[in-house]
Amino acid sequence: MPTSSGTNRSGPNPGLSLVIPCFNEGAMLPFLKERLLQSLPALKMSWEVILVDDGSRDDTFAQLAALHAADPRFKVLSFSRNFGHQTAVFAGLSFATGDFVAVMDADLQDPPEFLGTCIAKLNEGFDVVYAVRRQRKESFFKRVCYATFYRLLRAIAEVEIPLDSGDFCVMRQQVVAVMRQMPERDVFVRGLRAWSGFRQTGIEYNRAARAAGETKYPFRKLVRLAMDGVFAFSPFPLRLAAYIGLGIVALSVLAALTVLVWKIFNFQLFGHYPAEVPGWSSVVCLILFMGGIQLLMLGVMGEFIGRIYNEVKQRPRWIIRETCGLNGADSKSS
Ligand code: UDP
Ligand code: MG
Repeated sequence: MPTSSGTNRSGPNPGLSLVIPCFNEGAMLPFLKERLLQSLPALKMSWEVILVDDGSRDDTFAQLAALHAADPRFKVLSFSRNFGHQTAVFAGLSFATGDFVAVMDADLQDPPEFLGTCIAKLNEGFDVVYAVRRQRKESFFKRVCYATFYRLLRAIAEVEIPLDSGDFCVMRQQVVAVMRQMPERDVFVRGLRAWSGFRQTGIEYNRAARAAGETKYPFRKLVRLAMDGVFAFSPFPLRLAAYIGLGIVALSVLAALTVLVWKIFNFQLFGHYPAEVPGWSSVVCLILFMGGIQLLMLGVMGEFIGRIYNEVKQRPRWIIRETCGLNGADSKSS
């Protein structure tokens, strides 16, 4: 029966659950395993790694299953198809039972050694410690897009979503329990994390380049992620219609007054007297402008309606094809 969260309760809870989404990461997994086995013991606590295979088409699942067979602290959740990075992270979180829960990418852009620093900070009395990228090894164009997006989101979002922080973080179980309660389908994990409140803080780090394989985030998916962030956390696009409309009304009142004064006092404006017909180009410009604004606002409404429809359908957020080491995974979907 579909449930809203997975369960994973056999034996005592580990100190740390590390959630890692993997999509076609076959080339990456041997490096990942090695780095994790080097860095996790230094944390001096019991741990589990929940690897979410997001419908990979390469040998990712076979490698993950072998990893679990060799070391059952590596647990695997495999989706029936690609549901997207954010959904994979969210599914992993709903199975995470550790007192601390961390999220990390599979490509080692986020150094697992940094988790120790985050946990030390949590022990100073925080509930969420997220990593803030000091610099990124990406193309200039991508860096400009990221920087613009985070600043725009901060300006218009109703909760404060920290600048330049991704999903790489460590949270207390209490926070994850709150996030699990959130039933929405279009998840924007870093937004939900910020929305949950609690005591949050960021630590800066340098983001490395991907260690192997290529990016699983083409520009199209990045735009989609940015839109999930904006539309789920800000009513600003809806208000845009009212703001633009008000601005145009004010402009048109000014224009009408100008024409009136021009007619009454009969002076030359832009080289013409009122008696001359000034031509149709300005009228065409106005019609195009108004048409454009109306279409833009219709698009904004459409985006919200599409999202409402998506939520209302109440389809499962993901479908699990197979699991290794996760009890209660008889709930095949959520
Ligand atoms: N990923 C995923 N599903 C997707 C796309 C990406 O689970 O549909 C995972 C991917 O395996 C990686 C993480 O999300 O662990 C981030 O992806 P990637 O490193 O390719 O993104 P980038 O760092 O290039 O933005
Ligand atoms: Mg990456």
